[in-house]
Order: sequence, then C-alpha cells, then structure tokens
Amino acid sequence: MAVNFNNYRQVLQQLEPYHARLVAVSKTKPVEDIRELYAAGQRIFGENYVQEMVEKAGLLPQDIQWHFIGHLQTNKVKYIAPFVSMIHGVDSLKLLAEISKQSLKHNRVTDCLLQVHIATEETKFGLSETEVFQLLDQAGELPGVRITGLMGMASNTDDEAQVRREFAGLKALRDTIREKYFPGAGTFRELSTGMSGDYKLALEEGSTLVRIGSLLFGARNYA
Ligand SMILES: *Cc1c(COP(=O)(O)O)cnc(C)c1O
Repeated sequence: MAVNFNNYRQVLQQLEPYHARLVAVSKTKPVEDIRELYAAGQRIFGENYVQEMVEKAGLLPQDIQWHFIGHLQTNKVKYIAPFVSMIHGVDSLKLLAEISKQSLKHNRVTDCLLQVHIATEETKFGLSETEVFQLLDQAGELPGVRITGLMGMASNTDDEAQVRREFAGLKALRDTIREKYFPGAGTFRELSTGMSGDYKLALEEGSTLVRIGSLLFGARNYA
C-alpha cells in the first residue's frame, strides 16, 4: 500500500512539456490510496471494473473525474452513466449507442474514446482500422456522447521501435479521422496511450492521456 509520491512527481514532470494528462489507474487499490493522491492534487482516476468504480465514487470527493478504462459491457453502462467522465474502451456501435441513451437519462454528455487494436498480441478487444471507419460511418446522431479520440495498448515487448510504431500508427489514424469526420471543430484530439512501462515512448508519439497504475500505487495483487 501507500502511494509513491516520487514517481508521481516524476510522471507529472514528464507530462508537462507535452501538456498531456495523467489518468491515475487505481484499480484493485483501496480508497485510502486514492485519497492520498487526491490530497496531492490528482483529480483523474481510472478504473476498469464497473462495480469497483461505483463503490469508490460513492466514497470519494465529487470533483474526481472518473475514467472507465476497462472493457465495458452494454448492460453495465447504466451504473456508471450518472457520473463517469470519460469511457476509454468503446469498441462497438451498440455500446456507444447505449452510452448515449443512458447519459441522456441523466442530462449528460459522456466523452468516449474508440479503442483500436494496435498490438501484435491476439485479443478480442479493440477495433481494427476498418472497423473504426465503419463505426464512424454508421454512428449518426448520438447526442449523449462526444467521441473525442482513440485509445490503444501497445504490444508487451522490449522492442521499443515496435512500440513506437504502434503508437505512431494510432496517432496517424487519429489525424486521418479528425480531418475526415471532425473538420474544423478540432474536438477529436485525444490519444489515450501509454502505461507504467511505456508512457515515455507514448508521450514522444503524441499521447494526450497516459494511464498509469503500478508506478504510482505499486504492483497489483490479484490473489
Ligand atoms: C491496468 C491498466 C493500466 C495501468 O497499467 P500499469 O502498467 O499498472 O500502469 C492502463 N491501462 C489499462 C487499460 C489498464 O487496464
């Protein structure tokens, strides 16, 4: 337990020249840890289990911005729609439509990122580039959501060049989408890339939101 404030300060220093923001990933960690980091000024926290995020949000200050970074099931959107600030892992039109519907019930508009599969490892999460364009073509009017960018997780490898290529590819995709679907408005700008092990590379490749857990809160114990 206990927050690593040295690492916290170092991460903030790294982010500053890039004007990127920190999502402090507090999954599996107790609310006391979140309170400690909150007292140091941190306001954005990331969780990836719905029930855990709902419970923590009920116990902690109202001005925390909760980012949902996990895989979200459509039938669970209603639990987080009243308060969630951003949903990073949107990977289907069905999910996006449900977020819009549930957000409107609370007179809210929820910021959403589309998750793109950029790593070499097989996973069932994340859209291909083709699927991203299909989703955007079919989305139509969804007044309860604002699609503000892309999220991706790089390969789990020591090959820096590989990781860099994956982040750079996502940035290029972001730029292409912005030109085609969001001309002028400039609202589609977020790139949620980088975790404890690769956030410096992510920043160099255009990250606007880094999602960092273990560097701040220590290793997670899932036992
Ligand atoms: C857990 C998690 C993180 C944080 O990982 P660390 O390696 O602990 O920094 C970032 N993004 C997602 C989607 C996660 O699930």
